[in-house]
Amino acid sequence: MRPLKFLIVALLSANLLLATSTDVNAQNQTPMPPNLIVVMADDLGYADVGFNGCVDIPTPHIDSIANSGVKFTNAYVSYSVCGPSRAGFITGRYSQRFGFERNPQYLPSDPNMGLPLGETTIAEALGKTGYRCGVVGKWHLGAHQNHHPLNRGFHEFYGHLGGGHRYLPKDLTFEDSAAASNEYESYRTLILNDRTPIKTTKYLTDEFSDAGVRFIESNKAQPFFLFLSYNAPHLPLQATPKYLNRFNNIKNPKRKTYAAMVSAVDDGVGQLLATLKKHNLEQNTLIFFLSDNGGPTTKNASQNNPLRGKKSDVWEGGFRVPFAARWPAKLPKGSVYHAPVSSLDIFATIASLSGAKIDEQRPLDGVNLVPYVRGEIKTPPHQAIYLRKFDQQRYAIRSGDYKQVIPFEGGKSQLYNLKNDIGETKNLALQEPDTLAKLEALRKTWSAELIDPVFQGLIHLPSFQKKQARNKSEKTGQEK
Ligand code: CA
Repeated sequence: MRPLKFLIVALLSANLLLATSTDVNAQNQTPMPPNLIVVMADDLGYADVGFNGCVDIPTPHIDSIANSGVKFTNAYVSYSVCGPSRAGFITGRYSQRFGFERNPQYLPSDPNMGLPLGETTIAEALGKTGYRCGVVGKWHLGAHQNHHPLNRGFHEFYGHLGGGHRYLPKDLTFEDSAAASNEYESYRTLILNDRTPIKTTKYLTDEFSDAGVRFIESNKAQPFFLFLSYNAPHLPLQATPKYLNRFNNIKNPKRKTYAAMVSAVDDGVGQLLATLKKHNLEQNTLIFFLSDNGGPTTKNASQNNPLRGKKSDVWEGGFRVPFAARWPAKLPKGSVYHAPVSSLDIFATIASLSGAKIDEQRPLDGVNLVPYVRGEIKTPPHQAIYLRKFDQQRYAIRSGDYKQVIPFEGGKSQLYNLKNDIGETKNLALQEPDTLAKLEALRKTWSAELIDPVFQGLIHLPSFQKKQARNKSEKTGQEK
């Protein structure tokens, strides 16, 4: 190398080091990968955050993630109910590939009732690169010992193993979560601190917010991954006067309690952000905020407008969710990203940033979103976004502006242009058969890669079916 060229390269390198000094560990001068925080709300409606236009429930802290980072307007989860959506997120893969396609039953005695052990979790992958990984809140990926978060790559756990939970400490009376054998009991178990049941004293959302803060404070010296998995605002609708009193203007009692529950989550996000600021961790922490599925509007008074449908549907209201990301060191502030993205992209993004190794036999379905959001890659991240619901044989395939929908078993394919018709009101199947044929080809190719579900689900419980028939699920909190 000639001296002048060498000098230029040296100067550029020095400049690069300076520019990325926030990412550099002072001791060894190696780039520090970002910390990762994923805040997942449960059954939160698309329209129930300020950054998506909500007016009756202020969510200033959640909004600040979008406002100081990126708001995604076409973001999907990989399933329209809790368990499979979470199985997708935590593996970075469509859970239909490995048979997790139903909400699991709460069965601590059944080693097959949960996330198959052959799959790799985001915590397992990150742990191998030196991240400290913690999950706070709802697990819902299996109640058997084999599926416990501490056996699936997480170093710390503070939460409950089932699909939902009661919120008031007085309701948590079932001491041994391993002895609980149904949903009713699982909603009432003591909270587990790692594997130890403990008596909590606060409103559950506040407990989880505090635990999230504790996790950051005790792990701030190293790269960490916090999965803050609120069960709010999932049923049962329960809130404390502190939050209810903020919404005396809302007359519908169900909406009022729901608003209070969302407000508690927002306070928790505020606590997290303040903790990052206090410890000078803001710059190099990547935060995602999302809901695990669309709002079950009639059950918890959530709202998905202008989207059609609700939780469990293949309409947009089932699986297009509020989604925002913030990483001050790298992501443009206050930007809006419109191309379709997926909750499966979170694993792929952090894997790319951290250098985590991916099992070649189990390739990720997501992509690293960073170069897309920064405008370095102009093409859309995904050829298509897919959803299959095996038990009802429902499908949704989103590609570009178009979406194919098979709304029920044996139903004819429908076609919508979501750019012009976000509410899925005008079926274009007859007008645009060529477009529909392209989507159908994608659907067939993807479907051929899937397997049938590997365990019976909540929907197979006689008690659940009976309750569904009576339409009393909101009182029992058993619908996920
Ligand atoms: Ca959910």
